[in-house]
Amino acid sequence: MMHNFDAVETPCYICEEELLEKNLKLFEYVQNKSGAKIILALKGFAMWSTFPLVEKYLKGCTASGLHEALLARQYFKGEVHTYSPAFKDEEIDEIATISDDIVFNSPNQLFKYVERVKDINPNIKISLRINPEYSASPKDIYNPCGIYSRLGTTLANFDEGVLKYIDGLNFHALCEQNVDALEAVLDAFEEKFSKYFKGLKYINFGGGHHITKEGYDVERLIEVIQNFKAKYDVDVYLEPGEAVGWQTGTLVATVLDTFHNGINVAILDTSAEAHMPDTLAMPYRAMVRGSGEAGEKDYTYRFGGNTCLAGDIMGDYSFDAPLQVGDKVIFEDQIHYTFVKNTTFNGIKLPSLAIYRKNGKLDVIKDFGYEDYKNRLS
Ligand SMILES: *Cc1c(COP(=O)(O)O)cnc(C)c1O
Repeated sequence: MMHNFDAVETPCYICEEELLEKNLKLFEYVQNKSGAKIILALKGFAMWSTFPLVEKYLKGCTASGLHEALLARQYFKGEVHTYSPAFKDEEIDEIATISDDIVFNSPNQLFKYVERVKDINPNIKISLRINPEYSASPKDIYNPCGIYSRLGTTLANFDEGVLKYIDGLNFHALCEQNVDALEAVLDAFEEKFSKYFKGLKYINFGGGHHITKEGYDVERLIEVIQNFKAKYDVDVYLEPGEAVGWQTGTLVATVLDTFHNGINVAILDTSAEAHMPDTLAMPYRAMVRGSGEAGEKDYTYRFGGNTCLAGDIMGDYSFDAPLQVGDKVIFEDQIHYTFVKNTTFNGIKLPSLAIYRKNGKLDVIKDFGYEDYKNRLS
């Protein structure tokens, strides 16, 4: 559906229900055909106003610690799997109470807390995160299996004493990757750890599966999961974050000023640093609706944010006509890993959160202001 963005108050993230449901239906297909269970990684997408829709398709959430676990328990009907690089004494009891599965990062942490966790919640399932020491992750900052990684237990650090406690094993080694990368990780994982699979209830393949991206080999994924389940007689979990929110909506901004300083500059009422952080961290260039590469169309502008950081720049974009103050700028695919990472840096207003309903109605779910900036400072 083509939406009208003229009346949108900016900056605003708009998640389109129809696009989100399209992704969810693909996950449903994968679950039905492969028998895998798919849970949402809240780290990448935590717009809980959409959970009544998401929970119809996905089996639960994966949480990185207490706060995400609380959100999952409060707003999502389904399993709560909680992992943390390290759990803390002050939080472990509450985590044990509200989690269906707890995933320890190291044997130390598992031995420290497993009895306490099982006393509090006798039904909780216990898992250990493994580092298969193989990854084709494109970037070091997103590579959990890189050298000196703190994420997961290597074979050398594995302690067979954990075997009497664990129901499953987890790994997370991918980032925006296709199924060939999963197969390579699985080879390494099985070679090192399959001797410990006996008696396990599940293996969790982590996230980073770019299932909803065009060109992802969904049928091959289904085969890989089916083969794995048949070979080891375990449940398989996937826990994508990015792929859930992938291409489900936009960040809409407004042009506040334009001028020429060797190049045409346009200042927008948003920020790459505060509102699109992965464009700087990954980095990547967000697409802008109706634009071309620099120089491709007649009028090229460098888009910058409304903060005092010199590097707060989205990139160079060209248009058929000169931009006017007040024009809307629509950044594509700005729903995953954006608002979950937002900051109020420089006091800039957080973008509102809105949903385009399937009937075409725009619901602004949340608007932010000065109080949100003030409340996280003292
Ligand atoms: C980040 C993360 C995920 C989700 O990764 P995506 O790339 O967003 O799919 C899943 N599991 C763990 C343990 C993670 O850290």
